[in-house]
Amino acid sequence: MERRKRLLELASEYDFLIIEDDPYSLILYEPIDVAPLKSMDAEGRVIYLSTFSKILSPGLRLGWVVADDSFTEKFVLAKQGMDLCTSPLLQYITYTALKRKVIQENLTKIRALYKTKRDKMLEALDTYFPEGCKWTMPIGGLFIFAWVPERVNTKELIQDCIKKYRIAYVPGQSFFVNGSGANTMRLNFSYPAMDEIEEGIKRLGQAIKEKL
Ligand SMILES: *Cc1c(COP(=O)(O)O)cnc(C)c1O
Repeated sequence: MERRKRLLELASEYDFLIIEDDPYSLILYEPIDVAPLKSMDAEGRVIYLSTFSKILSPGLRLGWVVADDSFTEKFVLAKQGMDLCTSPLLQYITYTALKRKVIQENLTKIRALYKTKRDKMLEALDTYFPEGCKWTMPIGGLFIFAWVPERVNTKELIQDCIKKYRIAYVPGQSFFVNGSGANTMRLNFSYPAMDEIEEGIKRLGQAIKEKL
């Protein structure tokens, strides 16, 4: 919360805008005492984004923006030029899902389910990953971020993983602005079934050990 407040102060001091990309705050596994930047935005500097991709269905490609009209009017113009606006049918499906509380009820279910899966993956990482690895303990979202030993390049490792081990992850380098992170990976725990989580991490652990 302190960092968030400081960020808003800096935005004001140096006159910049903030894009708050927040697809995960509805999928939290532990309570946290943090408010969205947008809720503290006295100067209209925050452009808040979220999505139905993680709480209803990814294929809908439907999200929302909270920002001053001066921004959203421009977004609508630009988007209209790109795709003649978001499908009204998809918007209506989502509207109905909200009205019938499908999303709200689903959230309760997925929070419990994903938390169990997160814990399963954390346990598997402890068991199967070699010395010299570390990973995050996420309190929300769908991913664990992991660091493997420096000499393993995860962009190269993924080739073996796909062909030989039939598993996949997202190489982490793309998440670093300075091109570092060649030994990192993003692991998804929401999609695979419980037994696939264990088997997948076991194979991934083997693939890493092979490179050491
Ligand atoms: C899923 C996601 C989005 C939005 O996804 P769409 O399918 O394009 O709505 C945006 N930011 C992050 C960090 C995400 O994980």
